[in-house]
Amino acid sequence: MQIWLQKFTTNHDALSPPELTEANGADQASLHMALNRFPALAALAVVFTLTGCATNSMTGRSQLVLVSEESASKQSVSYYNSMMGDFKKKEKLIVGSPINTRVEAITNKLIQQAVQYQPKSASWAWQVNVIDDDKTINAFCMPGGLMAIYTGLINQLDATDDEIAQVMGHEIGHALAGHGAEKMSVQIASNIAVLAISAAAAKNSRDFSNNQLALTVAALAFVNLPNGRITETEADKIGIELAARAGYDPAAAVSLWQKMATATKSKGRSDFLSTHPSPERRQETLLALGKPMGPLYAAAKATERPSYDWLKGDYDSRPKIEASSAQAFYSESWDRFIKGESQLKGGNMPAYLVKQGSLADLYKAGSWRDLASKVLDLDFELDLSYFYLSKAAKGLGFEQAAEKYQLQAIELGKSEKTACAKKFMVSCSGLQPSTP
Ligand SMILES: [Zn+2]
Repeated sequence: MQIWLQKFTTNHDALSPPELTEANGADQASLHMALNRFPALAALAVVFTLTGCATNSMTGRSQLVLVSEESASKQSVSYYNSMMGDFKKKEKLIVGSPINTRVEAITNKLIQQAVQYQPKSASWAWQVNVIDDDKTINAFCMPGGLMAIYTGLINQLDATDDEIAQVMGHEIGHALAGHGAEKMSVQIASNIAVLAISAAAAKNSRDFSNNQLALTVAALAFVNLPNGRITETEADKIGIELAARAGYDPAAAVSLWQKMATATKSKGRSDFLSTHPSPERRQETLLALGKPMGPLYAAAKATERPSYDWLKGDYDSRPKIEASSAQAFYSESWDRFIKGESQLKGGNMPAYLVKQGSLADLYKAGSWRDLASKVLDLDFELDLSYFYLSKAAKGLGFEQAAEKYQLQAIELGKSEKTACAKKFMVSCSGLQPSTP
């Protein structure tokens, strides 16, 4: 199990950005030395092993979780409320103007998609505020769906709806992937002063959730400290897909970061860029990520779906989404799929016959992620299934996986038990397993 933690330093400057680094041998050795010298650290280490890390269902990555997502959301609410209260007092909070309507229309559509990926987020207290500050280029989404965007981002960048959707999608991506709780955890682990208090508290509690002081310090750090490069890449991936499915152009992800870079160069500073360090070759990566999003974007543009108003609707009236029907993202099964290791074992022929048409439609539309998800979900061992997996993998750029599934399709096509044609399906649409 990988543990992501910040290097422990005694002269840690709370304002200097901590870098998420993978603990290597040397770091672990010095950590052990530190643990021997400081009993408080040792107490923390106990908590580390008890509640230290967990695999995130969105990303499949192991995260440091000293703070549970629930505590992070709870703490964020009080921090967010006092922050917005301050803006209100200074008359910096824009209410009831066309800019609110515009931002809310975009975020509602994004939330509609977010809850498909993480059904539990349907119960979040989603909110968005527009802050009247033309000098600041910034936007955020705290744990629990508490969002804000500064007018500086909209006006200085002359941002289009598509670009706003990319920023907010990226921010929602951070929240869905639990980056806030992770950041707070890293902050707690990195702050020596808080650490001692926490260790004392740990005598009575194995969880830091109740340690108000530690949480307050961490929440303060949330909006000021940078994300790591890994979390940035995760948020980019999630954001561009949420936006595409919500009907916003993936190409805007590239233009947005370009505008952001230009504005920062000419006008000095951007709060957003200081908390969102650029992963290597971000623009190239976003361009590549945008390609498989094309069909999703086109499909969303073609169908005008009624959108639920998440920001104004009451909790009880919200559409309910079953966790089992959530779209795959970076789940374990998805991870196996992209490595070419998916194994279809089931054999529910009637279910397959019913869904066969929709699989063919997804294939024709080039909706590769949906196609793969559906095939994995149906779990029917057939050459046609592997043919679809192969096409989906190829469409998404996983060449090696595509080859593996292609070979499996050819192999299964030889057997009466698993060949589509020999099972007398209504149609074996598109099946040409012998042609690579
Ligand atoms: Zn970010």
